[in-house]
Amino acid sequence: MIVMKFGGTSVEDAVAIKNVTDIVRKEIPRHPVVVVSACAGITNQLLKTAHLAAEGKRDEALQMVAAIEGRHKNIVKDLFDADAGRFLYKHIAAFAEELAALVNGVVILGELTPRSLDAFASFGERMSSFVIHQYFEASQIRSFLVDARSFMITDGQYTKALPLLDTVERKLHEIVFPKTENGYVVLTQGFIGSTETGITTTIGRGGSDYSAAIVGSLLNAEDIQIWTDVDGILTSDPSVVSDAKRIKVMSFNEAAELAYFGARVLHPETILPAVKKEIPVHVLNSRRPGSGGTLIIANPKVGKQCIVKSIAYKEGITVISIVSTRMFLAHGFLESVFDVFHKYETVVHTVATSEVSISVTIDNVKNLGKILQELKAFSTVSVSDRKAIVCVVGEHLKESPGVAAKVLRSIADFNVNMISQGASEINISVVIDEEHVDEVVRRLHKDFFSDVKHLTEIFE
Ligand code: ADP
Ligand code: ASP
Ligand code: MG
Repeated sequence: MIVMKFGGTSVEDAVAIKNVTDIVRKEIPRHPVVVVSACAGITNQLLKTAHLAAEGKRDEALQMVAAIEGRHKNIVKDLFDADAGRFLYKHIAAFAEELAALVNGVVILGELTPRSLDAFASFGERMSSFVIHQYFEASQIRSFLVDARSFMITDGQYTKALPLLDTVERKLHEIVFPKTENGYVVLTQGFIGSTETGITTTIGRGGSDYSAAIVGSLLNAEDIQIWTDVDGILTSDPSVVSDAKRIKVMSFNEAAELAYFGARVLHPETILPAVKKEIPVHVLNSRRPGSGGTLIIANPKVGKQCIVKSIAYKEGITVISIVSTRMFLAHGFLESVFDVFHKYETVVHTVATSEVSISVTIDNVKNLGKILQELKAFSTVSVSDRKAIVCVVGEHLKESPGVAAKVLRSIADFNVNMISQGASEINISVVIDEEHVDEVVRRLHKDFFSDVKHLTEIFE
């Protein structure tokens, strides 16, 4: 079997859903499990609705519900004939009523918990999958809609719940596997799950990629396909670099590094389950299914001659520099520093140390005040925000002297706050002022990729 995940833009309207149907139909002999996102923009609207309700803005929240209902009804109108449409309208209206009831509940309580947020957010995937399932059936694709909340069992960390993989595996084999064996195209939702007691959860924004990877790895898929709105993983974010090139093949390590450092095209968590079982991941364009995409595998045979594969960036970064008031590398100093970040569940992205100081970057500043207070108990601390990490990624950086020098030469006229090369030696990252991020990315892209025309096995 294979897993095919379609992101928000791939299911955003009737034309997109027709494309999805054609793409899935071709893969029926390979027993696809299809994982879908909410229609583009809907998750944001649902969260906005929830916040409006929490602020007591009932009418505005209900207008938003009406807009969400209207968007899905429009898709139905464009996909089905009038009779079928009328029947499906009732179902869409029922979703909207349920959502309106949630709005009323939150308005009355005047409080919005993470648990309620997940209840709101779940409607996007539930509604899109309902419409797509109906369209598959109408298009003679024998399909079975499985509510992801029946198998994607998670812990109770609402809005960022962790799937309980042993349970998920058991449930997938009970619920999903027999259907694929019986020749159904199984359709399910990404992003949403449920606690063991049946309360709806979500696994974090952009999490449908992760859902797909979990399903693929636990069902031992031959292939995990991530269908999106670009031709694959590109040498940089196409919204910043207009002439970014498609990367034809790359390693799991490179893809993981890119995802982690902000290339939205793939959720960072996606790669892990696939890596464990060495399941190839294809990133493909649902608008141009023939465009080739990117293949991500453990050890690509090609590409050894190519040093840098891609340039990613992450904005909203805060740099914290910590100088020991006592002896810097005294026994236990680094441990004390990282204990503080651990205590406040704050992920550190990059670290650079000098004789007397250590600098780290974070993007979650929720507990920054408390972190600083604790660090100040044993060190002198300074903080600067509105930074960005720009990250040059390539599996063969370690064998190629001079890349760091080339990076620094390329952006010599920008102020570099930090530079770091990970132990895996697969990325070199620089921390710069956020306002310069586009220019820095374009400059690096030009210097590293204007001369790769001969590498036709890797780039297009
Ligand atoms: P989906 O809704 O299919 O999950 P996303 O919007 O999450 O799609 O991811 C696709 C987007 O990621 C692209 O439209 C592109 O703007 C952005 N992106 C950022 N970096 C890259 C990159 N290196 N290669 C391709 N796309 C990238
Ligand atoms: N719909 C969810 C989001 O917008 C999940 C996803 O699309 O991956 O975050
Ligand atoms: Mg995405």
